[in-house]
Amino acid sequence: MVTTIDIARDNPNAKTIASTGASHLVGEEKPTLIGLSREELGEALGTIGVPQKQWRMRSSQLWHWLYVRGVSNFADMTNIAKDLRAKLDEAFTIARPKIVSEQISVDGTRKWLFQFPPRGAGNPVEVETVYIPEEGRGTLCVSSQVGCTLTCTFCHTGTQKLVRNLTSEEILSQILIARDRLGDFPDAHTPQGAIVPSEGRLVTNIVMMGMGEPLYNFENVKKALLIASDGDGLSLSKRRITLSTSGVVPEIFRTGDEIGCMLAISLHAVRDEDRDILVPINKKWNIKELLDACRNYPGLSNAKRITFEYVMLKDINDSNEDALELVRLLKGIPAKINLIPFNPWPGSQYACSDWERIEEFADIVNRAGYASPIRTPRGRDIFAACGQLKSTSERMRKKDRDALNAKKAAVY
Ligand code: SAH
Ligand code: SF4
Repeated sequence: MVTTIDIARDNPNAKTIASTGASHLVGEEKPTLIGLSREELGEALGTIGVPQKQWRMRSSQLWHWLYVRGVSNFADMTNIAKDLRAKLDEAFTIARPKIVSEQISVDGTRKWLFQFPPRGAGNPVEVETVYIPEEGRGTLCVSSQVGCTLTCTFCHTGTQKLVRNLTSEEILSQILIARDRLGDFPDAHTPQGAIVPSEGRLVTNIVMMGMGEPLYNFENVKKALLIASDGDGLSLSKRRITLSTSGVVPEIFRTGDEIGCMLAISLHAVRDEDRDILVPINKKWNIKELLDACRNYPGLSNAKRITFEYVMLKDINDSNEDALELVRLLKGIPAKINLIPFNPWPGSQYACSDWERIEEFADIVNRAGYASPIRTPRGRDIFAACGQLKSTSERMRKKDRDALNAKKAAVY
């Protein structure tokens, strides 16, 4: 199946590459080894008869093949005995998910649509992941859920009901497959003409800013990010992993304490009556409660600041008074402010602030001593910019899911 996005069709320079669909779905038949902790990996080995005294050594071998070498086939694990490789292959999978489509923007941004098994949703589900190359770094924008339970009024993902949470394996798979496609593993090749950083690793930064609210899928996100930052594996520095939340206050402390990554807050408004509309979770935890949680973020310092994201919406939140109030609110919090020009989507009710307005707003914030970069929209031609992600997946109604399961049961 190929998903074609209208805006890409309208742009002759944006390329869409459809996959052959040959790869089979992760976890469709056999349990996966991707996304398991080292301990769980050891226990999985136990189920195929590996003696417990070998678990540590074998898990380390597997870990290296999976996360340093990036293999997706047991046959490639050359320092593991053939009969063990065969047993592993019989019992488990390490296959990548299906790539439904890959789109490449004129600015080098790439967007993939991946398909994962239903896991209770009825149909297979689809999520989007975006790669943003820049001079000296490559950022991967990773999804945590299919759809979102929240309904921020300026966000395209917010119009897609939550289908289901992604598993730790599915969150990690987005990183692994992006590195496959970019040629960012030792034996892989970078596609000719790809726009990537000129030296070093091609995926240097992870931002949990794709589809979904990561703090409403805390355990799976935590597990995936701890594996991504493991020094003997993917080895991404926690300083280069940023989790963005709309403000799930009770989980903010744990994010710093248990994951230890950088934090970004989708603030977007400086008064509760405005934020209640733009980011409705504000009705549950208001600006004061949110900022108090930020003040208590473990490890917070001038060297480890919180990023406050602020989408620039014409005549809604972009006045000089708003800028001054923003500065007042953030007083005392080591912070960076990221001004995001609003990225429109079909049916959106907002407009992006005029460029002069954004600059004046940025000037006020800068004068108060905050770095306030204006985020350049990337990949707008392939609909990959902040807040534009959305897949067509829907959760089947319970009645239909039950009927489907009954049909499957009758076949087997
Ligand atoms: N759910 C999390 C993470 C995903 S959203 C969160 O809300 O923080 C990533 C960022 O893009 C958030 O700051 C979000 O508010 C912003 N965003 C959403 N829609 C946007 C749009 N149409 N234009 C610009 N930014 C948008
Ligand atoms: Fe969900 Fe974040 Fe979009 Fe709000 S901005 S609807 S929390 S993905």
